[in-house]
Amino acid sequence: MIMLYSCASSRIIDRPIIFDSQRIELTKEYLDKRYGIESDSININPKMIVLHWTAIPTLEGSFDAFNGAVIPGWRSVVENASTLNVSSHFLVTRDGTIYRLMPETVMGRHVIGLNHCAIGIENVGGTQETPLTEAQLMSNIWLVNYLNDKYEIDYLIGHYEYTKFEGHKLWLEKDDGYRTEKEDPGEEFMKAVRDATKKLNFKPLPQKQ
Ligand SMILES: [Zn+2]
Repeated sequence: MIMLYSCASSRIIDRPIIFDSQRIELTKEYLDKRYGIESDSININPKMIVLHWTAIPTLEGSFDAFNGAVIPGWRSVVENASTLNVSSHFLVTRDGTIYRLMPETVMGRHVIGLNHCAIGIENVGGTQETPLTEAQLMSNIWLVNYLNDKYEIDYLIGHYEYTKFEGHKLWLEKDDGYRTEKEDPGEEFMKAVRDATKKLNFKPLPQKQ
């Protein structure tokens, strides 16, 4: 019997969300309208990892929220800014399974101001009944290491910290009125991931005046 030894990336399971011509066009429109980036490319230069929770308790519910190209109409503030649906590059289930929903270097819509340089990791759960798990913590730590080996990542942030980048050179959102309040993935989870990835020496977050 032949034993197969797993290489690092085999821990990732590809489960692509819809990325049809409509989503590509909406992504280009988002880059142009929100960031002033007029380009035929929807690729990003990853400089940052943003951790999230979906606030949806199941894998399928979370996947469905990202799958369509167009945002459902119920999130009017977000919808007004663009009809491109939200997405992230990775989705981690409650047992720590890692799904890759889209290519790592294509723009996902998961963090205002910073999507042009940010890789998103979503975690299933985050409701009162579904706090993030130890297995998710381990998989996030693994993913942060994996991405840091592959790209020149400067920053690791929790979604709730994104407004600290207002005024920073990476911040490109044009509309000062377009902000959403976030608390994901929780301070405790962020502290645990940061403690476990100290040796990667990410830059400290910008201090706003
Ligand atoms: Zn988030």
